Amino acid sequence: SVVIEARDVKLSFGRTPALRGATLSVSAGEIVAVMGPSGSGKSTLLHCLAGILVPDSGEIHFAGNRVDTLTEAARSSLRRDRFGFVFQFGQLVPELTAAENVALPLLLSGVRRPRALRRAYAWFERLGLDGLEQRRSGELSGGQAQRVALARGLVAEPQVLFADEPTGALDSLTGEQVMDLLVSAAREQGTTVILVTHEPRIAAYADREVMVRDGRVNAPDRIAS
Ligand code: ADP
Ligand code: ADP
Repeated sequence: SVVIEARDVKLSFGRTPALRGATLSVSAGEIVAVMGPSGSGKSTLLHCLAGILVPDSGEIHFAGNRVDTLTEAARSSLRRDRFGFVFQFGQLVPELTAAENVALPLLLSGVRRPRALRRAYAWFERLGLDGLEQRRSGELSGGQAQRVALARGLVAEPQVLFADEPTGALDSLTGEQVMDLLVSAAREQGTTVILVTHEPRIAAYADREVMVRDGRVNAPDRIAS
């Protein structure tokens, strides 16, 4: 069953068209890699699906409901309650400990601090981060920080995880370790994943790859012809 989709989405930044009629449909539990050259519209498509950007035209649907017609407040609640995010540079809050960073989405959803921290702590062993719970996030290595960011993206058990170049700042071995963890945690939770990457080795972790070219989505085989 389809959980999230973009239908003929168009969006320009001023006079720069970023999406020119992008259509993508993703099934529940599916891991989709969105590939394509720099500037092709991958991040913009992810931001539209996630309700961060509102298209100029076209439709975004999540769990059978229109997203693009919601108010900013409603889209913000949807992001908080149903979606998780991981970005290229972890974007952890440097003043907080690693565990507090992971707990953040729960705290923002109104989970009380002791319970939120308990749930956050449970991720550390699972991600091979034992003993790092109390570190300031600025004291973590790149690979550790990205695993913490992954835990933060998944801790609230989102229906959809949006991952924009989650391994882009890592060396290839560390990147593959993060992808292994991402995929196994997502499968365990049944989380749908939209993974933006330009690296074929990272896209290979997905169930399906789609290619964005000039603001449109194509299956990779159609690009070749
Ligand atoms: P990708 O993720 O594939 O690299 P993006 O979606 O980031 O592509 O960008 C698509 C196009 O939109 C590019 O031409 C980019 O420069 C432009 N763009 C993206 N974000 C903005 C923005 N906030 N303001 C102006 N132009 C933007
Ligand atoms: P990515 O391709 O991974 O999205 P970029 O470096 O292209 O990374 O973009 C980083 C940020 O800058 C994004 O938030 C994007 O929306 C914004 N951006 C990209 N291109 C432009 C642009 N031409 N003008 C203004 N903002 C832009």
